[in-house]
Parts: sequence; structure tokens; C-alpha cells
Amino acid sequence: MTGTTAPVARQHQDIPETVARLRDTFDSGVTRPVAWRRRQLQALRRMLLDHASAIEEALYDDLRKGRTESHLTEIGGVLAETEHALRHLGRWTRPRRVAVPLNIKLATARVHPEPLGVCLIIAPWNYPLTLTLNPLVGALSAGNAAVVKPSELAPATSALLADLLPRHLEAVTVVEGAVEETTTLLAQRFDHIFYTGNGTVGRIVATAAAKHLTPVTLELGGQSPAFVDETADMAVTARRLAWGKFTNAGQTCVAPDYVLVTRAARDSLLAELPGAVREMFGVDPRAGSDYGRIVNDRHFHRLTGLMGAGDLLTGGDFDAEDRYIAPTVLTDVPPQAPVMAEEIFGPILPVLTVRDVHEAVDFINARDKPLSLYAFTRDRAARRALLEETSSGGLVYNAPMIHLGVPNLPFGGVGESGMGAYHGKTSFDTFSHHKPVLSKPTRHDTLRLVYAPHTSRSFALIARAVSRTHPLLGRKR
Ligand code: NAD
Repeated sequence: MTGTTAPVARQHQDIPETVARLRDTFDSGVTRPVAWRRRQLQALRRMLLDHASAIEEALYDDLRKGRTESHLTEIGGVLAETEHALRHLGRWTRPRRVAVPLNIKLATARVHPEPLGVCLIIAPWNYPLTLTLNPLVGALSAGNAAVVKPSELAPATSALLADLLPRHLEAVTVVEGAVEETTTLLAQRFDHIFYTGNGTVGRIVATAAAKHLTPVTLELGGQSPAFVDETADMAVTARRLAWGKFTNAGQTCVAPDYVLVTRAARDSLLAELPGAVREMFGVDPRAGSDYGRIVNDRHFHRLTGLMGAGDLLTGGDFDAEDRYIAPTVLTDVPPQAPVMAEEIFGPILPVLTVRDVHEAVDFINARDKPLSLYAFTRDRAARRALLEETSSGGLVYNAPMIHLGVPNLPFGGVGESGMGAYHGKTSFDTFSHHKPVLSKPTRHDTLRLVYAPHTSRSFALIARAVSRTHPLLGRKR
């Protein structure tokens, strides 16, 4: 545990005072030294290791997450991000020298990263630990104070974070709550707002931020397509699709939403998918410990309402009391079906047949830009078409979701799937201002030439210098 502790704001009336206190902390300068940042990251690591079982229990309570999945996608994910930041913090925080052009010579130029101030992190419920703490790693690495607002739809994890974070970290306050609390928070002035969740609330966040000219990162969702053609290894593809789709019962922002399979690959993919699901979750996934539940009744009923489209290949059963929906694959789903109209965010995988990659590209481009696009193909032309003719937050060949595990890759959306990015150095950059610092010596006043009064001699010298830098300018037409 480190130094002083920041309080948990329990009442939303406390929020303005809580934020003001955090601003005082930031203004005192304590968060700036790299040593402080390092201590915070070490304390966060300690917290995760010491309280791993309590975290596992909270994730089980909220989403029935299995132990292994919790370690893989939550505790392990945050630990990896923290370790990466600890390893590279020295380099990231060092001012970076840059070259200066000839006419400014004898000056030295540096880019000096500085913290933004007090940041607000608003997290969703589906990966309630990772999506709260990974942005926090970035905020702390960059030397900020932060208010963390976990999702009320994952109440056990929210309560645990409200208990643990202020006991382990300085300059971090947890505000628990829902719309009312978040609305009060959004009325305060922050120096950066990092929001993960749906686009409707994303717009509310961006509108509130605009009042204070606060920059925002919006990590949103949408439909993430998977393309499969006949050159793919079908057994591996089916396994990876089943893993990507049914982990956390499909409640993953980067889960493959639907599959576009070429006519030539359709039958072999459909032959593999049911077996892949069975291999992973057993004949009765409900009985196993590796399959999650739907977060609440509203989402449960929304999802069961989407299951009528196309033909049922596997799954289809559900139990309202347990909020259980079996891993479900639907085939020959019409593009106009309700299940194709919105992000599914649950364990339903529609499979649609396309003629070839070009039809798949047209299909993808007719919709909002996805958060992730997955291409299961060994065909170079198909890979290139998907890379160059579509736009998405990220593109992964032959596997879903694993790009999140590469800290050197920026993670974020584009268009409707979000703005801004994070992970690794990108997180540090997101929560920093990269201040240009130029230092010009006074010994030889080389700027004299540009001072008024301007003479024909100074004009001639400047014109010559400009034409040297822009040779076309000096040419007679
Ligand atoms: P959610 O309901 O937990 O909401 C997210 C946050 O917004 C919560 O903290 C909540 O309290 C707050 N909120 C809700 N309504 C609000 C309002 N009216 N005003 C202010 N704040 C409000 O989570 P969700 O939005 O259902 O999350 C699912 C969505 O998030 C999906 O679209 C998914 O794709 C997306 N998502 C994206 C990522 C990513 O990294 N890009 C990760 C996870 C989820």
C-alpha cells in the first residue's frame, strides 16, 4: 500500500468536492515524478496479485466468468499492461529531441510529454476489471490523477474496485453509480475523458466534454465481421470463431459478430462449427464452469428476441431464470434480419453466404466501420482486398481478439466504433500532452534578418532562403 489514500465518493453530492480535491492533488505536483508513477504501477500490480481470488469471485458473481477466463482476459490482461508500462516508462517519459530546419538552426527542439491533469475513466460491465484498469495504467503512467467510474451493471466488481483502488493508489478516486452519478461527473471539468461503452452514451459523453473543451477517447462497439473463404484451415477457423464468439457468452466488444463465408467454404465451415463448440463447452455448456451468463434480464430478452432468423445449426436453447443462452449458430441469415441490424453482444453467431471477397467487402462497406475485422483466408488477394478496401478499428488475419494482447498495437475504433486508441505506449500518449519545447540561444541573434524594418537586402536574403527551401517558387513560369 502506498501513502495517502483518496476517498470513495459514495454520494453523488460529494462528486464536485471529490474532483476538486483530486485537482488539488494534481496541482501539488506529486503525480509528476516518474518515481511516483512507477510506485503507483507497482502498487496496482500488488493489488491484483494479492486480491486475485476476490477479483475472481466478483467476476463470477457479475458474469459467471470461469477462473481461467478471468485470469486470461481480466487479471492477466491488466498485469501484462502494467508490466509493459513499468518496463518502458523511463523511455516514454524522456523528452525526445527532434531536428530543426536550417533557418532555425542553433536552436534545440524537444518533445516533452507532460500529464494532462485530472482524467475521468468511465467503464462498461463486460470486462469490468480490464476496461477500468487498463486505461488507468495509461493515466497513471502519464502522471495524471484519475476518477474511475466502474459500471453499475457489474456491481460486485464495482464494489471491489471501490474498496481496493483507494487503499492501494494515491490520486485515484472511485465513483460508483449509474446515470445520475455519471451525469454529475460529466458536469465537472476534466482534462481527458476516457469512455468505453455504447455509442449512444458515447455521444452524451462527447457532448458534455465539449462544454469544457475536454478531449475524449471513445471506445465503442458495433458489428465486427469475420470473413472465411475456402483457402482457410476450416478446423482451426471453426475453433477460433467459437472461442472468439462464445468467450464471456459473446459479451465482448471485439467478438466476431457475424460470419461472411464464401459459397465454396460454406459447407465445410458449417460441418466444423458444432463440433468446435462442443469441444470447448461440452454437450451441455450450462453444466460446465467455462461458459458465462448474460449480464441482466434486459439483455437476455433482447438476445432471445434475435434468435428467430435463418436456420438453427447448433444451440438455440435458453433459460431465463439462469440467464443462460446456449452457444448458438444460425445459418443462411438474411441481411435484413433483426439480428443483423445491431451489435449482437451475446452468444449468437449468424452465418451469411457471399459469392467471394468482393461481395464481402461491399457488405462490410455498406455498414458502419467495425471495431475489428477478421479474415480467415490464405489467399493474398483476398487479404489485400480486405486490408485496402475496408476500414475498421483493427484487422486480424486468422484469429479473433488476440490483437488486444499486443501492447505495441494501438487499440481503438474508427467512425461509429470510436475515436482515439490505447494500450502500451498509445495509452501513455493518449493521457499525455506532447509539449514542443524549442530553445534558441541568444549569443548570435540570427533572427535579426526577420525583424522590421525590412529592407531590399533583407527581402533578397529571405527570398533566396525561401526559394532554396521551395525550389519551384524561384522558377520562372
Ligand atoms: P454500460 O451499460 O456499463 O455503460 C457504460 C458506462 O456508461 C457505464 O459506466 C454506465 O454507468 C455509463 N452510462 C450508462 N448510461 C449513461 C448515461 N445516460 N449517461 C452517462 N453515463 C452513462 O455498458 P454498455 O454501453 O452496455 O457496454 C456495451 C457496449 O460497449 C457495446 O457496444 C460494446 O461493443 C462496447 N464496448 C466497447 C469496448 C471497446 O473497447 N471498444 C469494450 C467493451 C465494450
